[in-house]
Amino acid sequence: MAGKRDYYEVLGVQRNASADEIKKSYRKMALQYHPDRNPNNKEAEEKFKEAAEAYEVLSDQTKRQRYDQFGHQGMRGGSDFHQYQDINDIFSHFGDIFGGTGGSIFEEMFGGQQRRRGPRSSGEPGSDLRIRLKLTLEEIASGVEKKLKIKKWKSCATCSGNGAKPGSSRSACPQCQGTGELRQVSRSMFGQFVNISACAFCGGTGQIIKEKCHTCDGEGREQGESTIKINVPAGVSEGNYMTLQGQGNAGRRGGHAGDVIVEFTEEKHDSFIRNGDDIIYTALISYPDAVLGADIEVPTLTGKAKLKIEAGTLPGKMLRMKDKGIPHLNSYGRGDQLIQIQIWVPHKVNSREKELLKELSDSEHINPSDEEKSKSKSLYDKMKNVFS
Ligand SMILES: [Zn+2]
Ligand SMILES: [Zn+2]
Repeated sequence: MAGKRDYYEVLGVQRNASADEIKKSYRKMALQYHPDRNPNNKEAEEKFKEAAEAYEVLSDQTKRQRYDQFGHQGMRGGSDFHQYQDINDIFSHFGDIFGGTGGSIFEEMFGGQQRRRGPRSSGEPGSDLRIRLKLTLEEIASGVEKKLKIKKWKSCATCSGNGAKPGSSRSACPQCQGTGELRQVSRSMFGQFVNISACAFCGGTGQIIKEKCHTCDGEGREQGESTIKINVPAGVSEGNYMTLQGQGNAGRRGGHAGDVIVEFTEEKHDSFIRNGDDIIYTALISYPDAVLGADIEVPTLTGKAKLKIEAGTLPGKMLRMKDKGIPHLNSYGRGDQLIQIQIWVPHKVNSREKELLKELSDSEHINPSDEEKSKSKSLYDKMKNVFS
Protein backbone atom coordinates (compact mmCIF):
# COMPACT_ATOMS: atom_id res chain seq x y z
CA MET A 1 0.00 0.00 0.00
CA ALA A 2 1.15 3.49 -0.71
CA GLY A 3 3.30 4.94 2.02
CA LYS A 4 3.65 1.66 3.87
CA ARG A 5 7.04 1.26 5.44
CA ASP A 6 9.18 -1.75 4.83
CA TYR A 7 8.46 -4.38 7.49
CA TYR A 8 12.13 -4.95 8.22
CA GLU A 9 12.63 -1.24 8.65
CA VAL A 10 9.59 -1.08 10.93
CA LEU A 11 11.06 -3.72 13.23
CA GLY A 12 14.58 -2.36 12.83
CA VAL A 13 16.07 -5.69 11.74
CA GLN A 14 18.17 -6.87 8.82
CA ARG A 15 16.52 -8.66 5.93
CA ASN A 16 18.26 -11.87 6.93
CA ALA A 17 17.29 -11.58 10.61
CA SER A 18 16.51 -14.83 12.38
CA ALA A 19 13.06 -15.60 13.75
CA ASP A 20 14.44 -14.98 17.21
CA GLU A 21 15.82 -11.56 16.37
CA ILE A 22 12.51 -10.58 14.84
CA LYS A 23 10.62 -11.73 17.89
CA LYS A 24 12.98 -9.92 20.22
CA SER A 25 12.81 -6.69 18.30
CA TYR A 26 9.04 -6.82 18.10
CA ARG A 27 8.75 -7.42 21.83
CA LYS A 28 10.90 -4.42 22.51
CA MET A 29 8.84 -2.20 20.27
CA ALA A 30 5.55 -3.50 21.59
CA LEU A 31 6.69 -2.63 25.09
CA GLN A 32 7.90 0.79 24.03
CA TYR A 33 4.79 1.80 22.12
CA HIS A 34 2.19 -0.01 24.14
CA PRO A 35 -0.86 2.25 24.55
CA ASP A 36 -0.93 1.70 28.28
CA ARG A 37 2.42 3.39 28.47
CA ASN A 38 1.49 6.07 25.97
CA PRO A 39 -2.04 7.11 26.85
CA ASN A 40 -3.74 9.28 24.24
CA ASN A 41 -0.69 9.15 22.03
CA LYS A 42 -1.94 8.46 18.52
CA GLU A 43 1.53 8.23 17.10
CA ALA A 44 2.58 5.56 19.57
CA GLU A 45 -0.58 3.63 18.85
CA GLU A 46 0.11 3.76 15.13
CA LYS A 47 3.66 2.58 15.73
CA PHE A 48 2.34 -0.22 17.90
CA LYS A 49 -0.04 -1.38 15.19
CA GLU A 50 2.58 -1.00 12.48
CA ALA A 51 4.98 -3.19 14.44
CA ALA A 52 2.30 -5.82 15.03
CA GLU A 53 1.49 -5.98 11.35
CA ALA A 54 5.15 -6.28 10.43
CA TYR A 55 5.58 -8.99 13.03
CA GLU A 56 2.62 -10.96 11.82
CA VAL A 57 4.13 -11.18 8.38
CA LEU A 58 7.78 -11.65 9.29
CA SER A 59 7.10 -14.21 12.00
CA ASP A 60 5.31 -16.48 9.55
CA GLN A 61 7.68 -18.24 7.20
CA THR A 62 5.27 -18.48 4.31
CA LYS A 63 4.16 -14.88 4.59
CA ARG A 64 7.69 -13.65 5.05
CA GLN A 65 8.78 -15.48 1.92
CA ARG A 66 5.95 -13.98 -0.02
CA TYR A 67 6.72 -10.56 1.35
CA ASP A 68 10.39 -10.91 0.42
CA GLN A 69 9.35 -11.82 -3.07
CA PHE A 70 6.49 -9.45 -3.74
CA GLY A 71 6.71 -6.78 -1.05
CA HIS A 72 3.52 -5.20 0.26
CA GLN A 73 1.89 -6.04 -3.06
CA GLY A 74 2.10 -9.70 -2.15
CA MET A 75 0.26 -9.23 1.13
CA ARG A 76 -2.98 -7.91 -0.27
CA GLY A 77 -4.81 -11.19 -0.57
CA GLY A 78 -7.36 -10.42 2.09
CA SER A 79 -7.61 -14.05 3.02
CA ASP A 80 -4.51 -14.50 5.06
CA PHE A 81 -3.71 -10.97 5.91
CA HIS A 82 -5.26 -9.65 9.01
CA GLN A 83 -6.32 -6.02 9.27
CA TYR A 84 -6.09 -4.92 12.85
CA GLN A 85 -9.10 -3.11 14.21
CA ASP A 86 -7.86 -2.40 17.67
CA ILE A 87 -5.25 -3.23 20.21
CA ASN A 88 -7.05 -6.21 21.68
CA ASP A 89 -7.08 -7.79 18.32
CA ILE A 90 -3.32 -7.73 18.32
CA PHE A 91 -3.19 -9.34 21.71
CA SER A 92 -5.62 -12.04 20.85
CA HIS A 93 -3.38 -12.74 17.88
CA PHE A 94 -0.04 -12.78 19.56
CA GLY A 95 -0.99 -14.13 22.94
CA ASP A 96 1.86 -16.58 22.71
CA ILE A 97 4.63 -14.05 22.48
CA PHE A 98 3.29 -12.22 25.50
CA GLY A 99 3.00 -15.32 27.59
CA GLY A 100 -0.19 -17.14 26.84
CA THR A 101 -3.05 -15.00 27.98
CA GLY A 102 -2.68 -12.09 25.62
CA GLY A 103 -1.11 -9.04 27.17
CA SER A 104 -0.27 -10.67 30.48
CA ILE A 105 3.25 -9.33 30.36
CA PHE A 106 1.80 -5.83 30.40
CA GLU A 107 -0.61 -6.66 33.10
CA GLU A 108 2.21 -7.82 35.30
CA MET A 109 4.16 -4.72 34.64
CA PHE A 110 1.34 -2.32 35.08
CA GLY A 111 -0.30 -4.02 37.98
CA GLY A 112 -3.32 -5.68 36.52
CA GLN A 113 -4.51 -2.71 34.58
CA GLN A 114 -7.41 -3.38 32.28
CA ARG A 115 -7.18 -2.78 28.62
CA ARG A 116 -9.90 -0.85 26.95
CA ARG A 117 -11.71 -2.13 23.97
CA GLY A 118 -13.67 0.31 21.87
CA PRO A 119 -15.60 3.27 23.16
CA ARG A 120 -17.15 2.73 26.56
CA SER A 121 -20.39 4.27 25.43
CA SER A 122 -21.42 0.89 24.12
CA GLY A 123 -21.70 -2.42 25.98
CA GLU A 124 -19.51 -5.47 26.15
CA PRO A 125 -18.16 -6.62 22.78
CA GLY A 126 -19.27 -9.93 21.30
CA SER A 127 -16.95 -12.87 20.84
CA ASP A 128 -15.49 -14.19 17.62
CA LEU A 129 -16.80 -17.30 15.94
CA ARG A 130 -14.47 -19.80 14.35
CA ILE A 131 -15.55 -21.88 11.41
CA ARG A 132 -13.75 -24.52 9.41
CA LEU A 133 -14.65 -24.56 5.77
CA LYS A 134 -13.90 -27.63 3.66
CA LEU A 135 -13.02 -26.94 0.07
CA THR A 136 -12.41 -29.24 -2.88
CA LEU A 137 -9.39 -28.68 -5.08
CA GLU A 138 -11.72 -27.62 -7.89
CA GLU A 139 -13.25 -24.96 -5.64
CA ILE A 140 -9.80 -23.78 -4.64
CA ALA A 141 -8.74 -23.60 -8.26
CA SER A 142 -11.65 -21.46 -9.35
CA GLY A 143 -12.52 -19.60 -6.17
CA VAL A 144 -16.01 -20.07 -4.81
CA GLU A 145 -18.79 -18.31 -3.00
CA LYS A 146 -20.11 -20.24 -0.02
CA LYS A 147 -23.17 -19.55 2.04
CA LEU A 148 -23.21 -20.94 5.53
CA LYS A 149 -25.88 -20.94 8.17
CA ILE A 150 -24.45 -20.25 11.60
CA LYS A 151 -25.96 -20.07 15.06
CA LYS A 152 -24.93 -16.94 16.89
CA TRP A 153 -25.93 -14.20 19.24
CA LYS A 154 -27.83 -11.53 17.35
CA SER A 155 -28.84 -8.10 18.41
CA CYS A 156 -32.22 -8.28 20.19
CA ALA A 157 -34.96 -7.23 17.78
CA THR A 158 -37.25 -5.97 20.53
CA CYS A 159 -34.89 -3.44 22.12
CA SER A 160 -32.50 -2.99 19.16
CA GLY A 161 -29.74 -4.30 21.36
CA ASN A 162 -29.71 -1.75 24.13
CA GLY A 163 -31.33 -4.05 26.69
CA ALA A 164 -33.96 -1.58 27.85
CA LYS A 165 -37.68 -2.19 27.62
CA PRO A 166 -38.89 -0.09 24.67
CA GLY A 167 -40.18 3.23 25.95
CA SER A 168 -38.50 2.89 29.34
CA SER A 169 -35.98 5.46 30.40
CA ARG A 170 -32.35 5.14 31.38
CA SER A 171 -30.20 7.14 33.69
CA ALA A 172 -26.50 7.83 34.03
CA CYS A 173 -24.65 5.34 36.21
CA PRO A 174 -24.09 6.86 39.65
CA GLN A 175 -20.86 4.94 40.16
CA CYS A 176 -18.99 6.31 37.16
CA GLN A 177 -21.11 9.39 36.43
CA GLY A 178 -22.03 7.98 33.05
CA THR A 179 -18.48 7.62 31.75
CA GLY A 180 -18.46 3.82 31.97
CA GLU A 181 -14.96 3.76 33.40
CA LEU A 182 -13.25 4.15 36.72
CA ARG A 183 -9.94 5.96 36.99
CA GLN A 184 -7.34 5.33 39.59
CA VAL A 185 -3.92 6.92 39.84
CA SER A 186 -1.14 4.57 40.89
CA ARG A 187 2.60 4.20 40.72
CA SER A 188 4.80 1.70 38.99
CA MET A 189 8.43 1.37 38.02
CA PHE A 190 7.66 3.58 35.05
CA GLY A 191 6.28 6.36 37.19
CA GLN A 192 2.78 7.52 37.86
CA PHE A 193 0.01 6.47 35.61
CA VAL A 194 -3.72 6.46 35.42
CA ASN A 195 -5.34 3.10 35.74
CA ILE A 196 -8.60 2.93 33.78
CA SER A 197 -10.99 0.08 34.29
CA ALA A 198 -14.51 -0.61 33.16
CA CYS A 199 -17.17 0.29 35.67
CA ALA A 200 -18.49 -2.96 37.06
CA PHE A 201 -21.72 -1.41 38.22
CA CYS A 202 -23.00 -0.55 34.76
CA GLY A 203 -20.86 -3.03 32.84
CA GLY A 204 -18.98 -0.18 31.22
CA THR A 205 -22.02 1.24 29.46
CA GLY A 206 -22.30 4.31 31.68
CA GLN A 207 -26.03 3.82 31.88
CA ILE A 208 -28.45 2.11 34.17
CA ILE A 209 -31.49 0.54 32.62
CA LYS A 210 -34.63 1.17 34.64
CA GLU A 211 -36.69 -1.57 33.04
CA LYS A 212 -35.11 -4.53 31.27
CA CYS A 213 -36.27 -5.69 27.86
CA HIS A 214 -38.35 -8.84 28.38
CA THR A 215 -37.19 -10.60 25.24
CA CYS A 216 -33.52 -10.62 26.12
CA ASP A 217 -33.70 -9.96 29.86
CA GLY A 218 -31.64 -6.81 29.43
CA GLU A 219 -28.79 -8.57 27.59
CA GLY A 220 -29.51 -6.80 24.32
CA ARG A 221 -29.00 -9.95 22.32
CA GLU A 222 -30.70 -13.25 21.58
CA GLN A 223 -29.71 -16.58 20.03
CA GLY A 224 -30.48 -16.75 16.37
CA GLU A 225 -29.37 -17.99 13.02
CA SER A 226 -27.73 -16.09 10.29
CA THR A 227 -26.50 -16.85 6.82
CA ILE A 228 -23.04 -15.64 6.03
CA LYS A 229 -21.53 -15.33 2.61
CA ILE A 230 -17.90 -16.23 2.16
CA ASN A 231 -16.12 -15.30 -1.02
CA VAL A 232 -13.21 -17.71 -1.13
CA PRO A 233 -10.49 -16.38 -3.41
CA ALA A 234 -8.83 -18.81 -5.80
CA GLY A 235 -5.55 -20.28 -4.61
CA VAL A 236 -6.07 -20.60 -0.86
CA SER A 237 -4.34 -23.38 1.04
CA GLU A 238 -5.03 -25.53 4.05
CA GLY A 239 -4.72 -23.37 7.16
CA ASN A 240 -5.32 -20.01 5.46
CA TYR A 241 -8.04 -18.06 7.14
CA MET A 242 -10.29 -15.18 6.44
CA THR A 243 -11.88 -12.72 8.82
CA LEU A 244 -15.40 -11.46 8.33
CA GLN A 245 -15.44 -8.42 10.52
CA GLY A 246 -18.47 -7.71 12.66
CA GLN A 247 -20.28 -10.89 11.66
CA GLY A 248 -19.59 -12.81 14.86
CA ASN A 249 -21.58 -12.77 18.07
CA ALA A 250 -23.41 -9.58 18.91
CA GLY A 251 -22.13 -7.89 22.04
CA ARG A 252 -24.10 -7.39 25.21
CA ARG A 253 -26.21 -4.24 25.37
CA GLY A 254 -25.16 -2.84 22.02
CA GLY A 255 -21.48 -3.80 22.26
CA HIS A 256 -19.91 -4.25 18.86
CA ALA A 257 -20.11 -7.69 17.31
CA GLY A 258 -17.14 -10.05 17.13
CA ASP A 259 -15.76 -11.45 13.90
CA VAL A 260 -16.28 -14.68 12.06
CA ILE A 261 -12.94 -16.33 11.45
CA VAL A 262 -13.08 -18.84 8.64
CA GLU A 263 -10.29 -21.36 8.42
CA PHE A 264 -9.93 -23.26 5.17
CA THR A 265 -9.28 -26.97 4.98
CA GLU A 266 -8.63 -28.93 1.83
CA GLU A 267 -10.46 -32.09 0.91
CA LYS A 268 -8.36 -34.94 -0.42
CA HIS A 269 -8.80 -35.34 -4.14
CA ASP A 270 -9.34 -38.73 -5.78
CA SER A 271 -6.99 -38.07 -8.69
CA PHE A 272 -4.72 -35.17 -7.84
CA ILE A 273 -2.07 -34.38 -5.29
CA ARG A 274 -1.38 -30.73 -4.58
CA ASN A 275 2.23 -29.64 -4.44
CA GLY A 276 2.26 -25.91 -3.75
CA ASP A 277 0.27 -24.49 -6.64
CA ASP A 278 1.09 -27.41 -8.91
CA ILE A 279 -1.06 -30.49 -9.07
CA ILE A 280 0.28 -33.92 -9.78
CA TYR A 281 -1.55 -36.60 -11.66
CA THR A 282 -0.41 -40.13 -12.37
CA ALA A 283 -1.39 -41.37 -15.80
CA LEU A 284 -1.49 -45.10 -16.33
CA ILE A 285 -0.76 -46.07 -19.91
CA SER A 286 -0.43 -49.45 -21.58
CA TYR A 287 2.89 -50.93 -22.58
CA PRO A 288 2.08 -50.69 -26.30
CA ASP A 289 1.18 -47.00 -25.88
CA ALA A 290 4.49 -46.37 -24.13
CA VAL A 291 6.37 -48.05 -26.94
CA LEU A 292 4.44 -46.68 -29.89
CA GLY A 293 3.26 -43.34 -28.52
CA ALA A 294 -0.38 -42.27 -28.20
CA ASP A 295 -2.74 -39.40 -27.61
CA ILE A 296 -4.39 -39.87 -24.25
CA GLU A 297 -7.00 -37.97 -22.29
CA VAL A 298 -6.24 -36.79 -18.76
CA PRO A 299 -8.47 -35.08 -16.22
CA THR A 300 -7.59 -31.52 -15.18
CA LEU A 301 -9.17 -29.25 -12.58
CA THR A 302 -11.31 -27.73 -15.32
CA GLY A 303 -12.23 -30.77 -17.41
CA LYS A 304 -10.52 -33.23 -19.68
CA ALA A 305 -7.46 -32.41 -21.77
CA LYS A 306 -5.54 -34.19 -24.50
CA LEU A 307 -1.95 -35.20 -23.90
CA LYS A 308 0.56 -36.56 -26.35
CA ILE A 309 2.68 -39.51 -25.26
CA GLU A 310 5.85 -39.76 -27.30
CA ALA A 311 6.96 -43.10 -28.65
CA GLY A 312 9.47 -44.69 -26.27
CA THR A 313 8.20 -43.01 -23.10
CA LEU A 314 9.71 -44.49 -19.96
CA PRO A 315 7.72 -45.11 -16.79
CA GLY A 316 8.23 -42.33 -14.24
CA LYS A 317 8.56 -39.64 -16.88
CA MET A 318 7.08 -36.31 -15.85
CA LEU A 319 5.15 -34.24 -18.35
CA ARG A 320 4.11 -30.70 -17.66
CA MET A 321 0.89 -28.98 -18.68
CA LYS A 322 1.56 -25.30 -18.18
CA ASP A 323 -0.91 -23.18 -16.23
CA LYS A 324 -3.26 -26.07 -15.50
CA GLY A 325 -2.59 -25.88 -11.79
CA ILE A 326 -3.89 -23.66 -9.01
CA PRO A 327 -3.83 -19.85 -9.29
CA HIS A 328 -1.27 -18.11 -7.11
CA LEU A 329 -3.06 -16.43 -4.24
CA ASN A 330 -1.16 -13.18 -4.14
CA SER A 331 0.34 -12.79 -7.56
CA TYR A 332 -0.56 -13.31 -11.17
CA GLY A 333 -0.37 -16.63 -12.89
CA ARG A 334 -0.94 -20.16 -11.73
CA GLY A 335 0.82 -23.43 -11.15
CA ASP A 336 1.10 -26.30 -13.60
CA GLN A 337 -0.27 -29.78 -13.82
CA LEU A 338 2.44 -32.41 -13.72
CA ILE A 339 1.68 -35.78 -15.18
CA GLN A 340 3.72 -38.73 -14.15
CA ILE A 341 3.60 -41.61 -16.55
CA GLN A 342 3.19 -45.11 -15.18
CA ILE A 343 2.90 -48.20 -17.24
CA TRP A 344 0.04 -50.52 -16.54
CA VAL A 345 0.91 -54.13 -15.93
CA PRO A 346 -2.18 -56.33 -16.15
CA HIS A 347 -2.86 -58.82 -13.38
CA LYS A 348 -4.69 -61.14 -15.69
CA VAL A 349 -4.28 -61.97 -19.35
CA ASN A 350 -6.20 -64.39 -21.54
CA SER A 351 -4.56 -67.24 -23.42
CA ARG A 352 -4.31 -65.28 -26.68
CA GLU A 353 -2.60 -62.37 -24.95
CA LYS A 354 -0.29 -64.75 -23.19
CA GLU A 355 0.72 -66.25 -26.50
CA LEU A 356 1.43 -62.85 -28.01
CA LEU A 357 3.47 -61.75 -25.01
CA LYS A 358 5.52 -64.92 -25.04
CA GLU A 359 6.21 -64.46 -28.68
CA LEU A 360 7.13 -60.85 -28.03
CA SER A 361 9.49 -61.60 -25.17
CA ASP A 362 11.96 -63.33 -27.45
CA SER A 363 11.80 -60.62 -30.08
CA GLU A 364 14.77 -58.41 -30.98
CA HIS A 365 14.10 -55.00 -29.30
CA ILE A 366 12.00 -56.07 -26.35
CA ASN A 367 14.71 -56.83 -23.80
CA PRO A 368 17.21 -54.22 -22.57
CA SER A 369 20.76 -54.71 -23.79
CA ASP A 370 23.63 -55.07 -21.32
CA GLU A 371 24.67 -51.52 -22.12
CA GLU A 372 21.22 -50.16 -21.33
CA LYS A 373 21.10 -52.15 -18.11
CA SER A 374 24.36 -50.57 -17.01
CA LYS A 375 22.82 -47.13 -17.53
CA SER A 376 19.85 -47.84 -15.31
CA LYS A 377 21.39 -46.07 -12.34
CA SER A 378 21.60 -42.75 -14.13
CA LEU A 379 18.03 -43.29 -15.22
CA TYR A 380 16.97 -43.67 -11.62
CA ASP A 381 18.84 -40.53 -10.62
CA LYS A 382 17.02 -38.63 -13.34
CA MET A 383 13.64 -39.87 -12.17
CA LYS A 384 14.01 -39.32 -8.46
CA ASN A 385 14.80 -35.65 -8.86
CA VAL A 386 11.55 -34.69 -10.49
CA PHE A 387 10.06 -33.19 -7.33
CA SER A 388 13.04 -31.33 -6.06
ZN1 LIG B 1 -34.04 -6.93 24.15
ZN1 LIG C 1 -20.92 2.89 35.76
